[in-house]
Amino acid sequence: MSNNLVAILYLVSAILFIFALRGLSHPESSRRGNIFGIAGMVIAIITTLMFKSVLSYTEIGAAILIGGLIGTFIALKIEMTALPQLVAAFHSLVGLAAVFVAAAAFYDPVSFNIGEKGYIASSSLIEMSIGTFVGAITFSGSILAFGKLQGTISGQPIVFKFQHTINAIIFLFIILLIVFFVIDQSPSIFWSIVIVSIILGFLVVIPIGGADMPVVISMLNSYSGWAACGIGFTLSNNLLIITGALVGASGAILSYIMSKGMNRSIISVVLGGFGGEQSGATKADNSDKVVKQGNAEDAAYILKNADSVIIVPGYGMAVAQAQHALREMGDILKKEGINVRYAIHPVAGRMPGHMNVLLAEANVPYEEVLELDEINHDFPMTEVSFVIGANDVTNPAAKTDQTSPIYGMPILDVEKSGTVLFIKRSMATGYSGVDNELFYRDNTTMLFGDAKKMCEGIVKALN
Ligand code: NDP
Repeated sequence: MSNNLVAILYLVSAILFIFALRGLSHPESSRRGNIFGIAGMVIAIITTLMFKSVLSYTEIGAAILIGGLIGTFIALKIEMTALPQLVAAFHSLVGLAAVFVAAAAFYDPVSFNIGEKGYIASSSLIEMSIGTFVGAITFSGSILAFGKLQGTISGQPIVFKFQHTINAIIFLFIILLIVFFVIDQSPSIFWSIVIVSIILGFLVVIPIGGADMPVVISMLNSYSGWAACGIGFTLSNNLLIITGALVGASGAILSYIMSKGMNRSIISVVLGGFGGEQSGATKADNSDKVVKQGNAEDAAYILKNADSVIIVPGYGMAVAQAQHALREMGDILKKEGINVRYAIHPVAGRMPGHMNVLLAEANVPYEEVLELDEINHDFPMTEVSFVIGANDVTNPAAKTDQTSPIYGMPILDVEKSGTVLFIKRSMATGYSGVDNELFYRDNTTMLFGDAKKMCEGIVKALN
């Protein structure tokens, strides 16, 4: 295949990837976005396979088959609620791939057209070591993020003295190693860069508290893009450079949006700092407090007699897969002439856009689904807030308790509405581990139970 044709086909793929990102920015166009992405990837793979430099189709075919089978198996088995940790695990593989490609290029520079062993071009060594550094950080940071999301590692921030200084010293040490590597081209320095970067990846993510994880995930998403971009430079593959940069840049934009949603500074996320300032004190003594409890019939009665209802979905709705029963409930209320709207917090659920996707799947009309900024001022004029499986995103401690790990995060002001109904199974905390004093308020009624069953019960009672 001629170089010109390759360039044209790669350009077509890159354009399709840009359309894919555009499509994925809204639930309505996301299916179209996915199709663009798939088409771009098919063109990219076929074009690459047509290269004269391809040595063995058998090995490539075997790798595609094994990878494809593993991917299909995981896609079929995975629970929707476990997607965030799966994404984190996949990011770690991108990081590892960047390290392996750099290692392959370092040990066999002739195959990569970057010189001979011991005489590799300095520019290639710089690209290679930066790719290795970003890849190794992405690898270890994503493994830690996976553990935190899976619950195998505590979601609480782990902080210690001089954390930032230690991180800064390690970072400077890596730069020094890269300089020596470029001069010396020694394998031991190459592997030192890998190991020290892996350590830095862990250190950057451990101080980040539970509720701040969304920003870290999107940041690691961005890092994985830059790692892929690094691989593109090592392999001299323009499309990989472009695709990596697209993922890196869109991840960075998403991190910016998420950190704005959490009221955190993006700089401190990049440096792995925030969450460290707080003490992590979360447990209030609520043993002597009482909560008002209700059942599906009580909820149906309260809802039916309201003029306006704002539904606040959270992670528990995803766990229970309650979105369809919820929409059915909303439809009945609308038929009664009640103004029903849905309020989405930017970090509700466990991944960006989690709630929007579930509500779209249940065919909730888009115009009824409003973002925090659009709806927050309406809570004081609203009779009932119907909180279904959400917790942290409504917790007033974010406004009042400076020692809380969620302090500073904007919340949905459900407390300002006339009545707050909370569907959850117990008094357990949300992801951040912070108690929610709203449960004990006079205007709150707790509806204990699985979100889907409770919604079905309310639908039955309304009918
Ligand atoms: P929370 O994690 O704060 O609360 C979810 C609540 O759902 C829990 O308190 C739980 O209580 C309840 N629940 C769980 N299962 C069920 C069920 N089957 N039926 C009914 N209730 C159920 O969720 P929010 O959405 O309010 O907040 C998201 C949190 O996750 C934030 O802290 C955010 O920072 C963090 N996060 C978000 C990410 C993102 O990208 N969106 C990524 C990573 C973390 P109980 O056990 O009593 O039922």
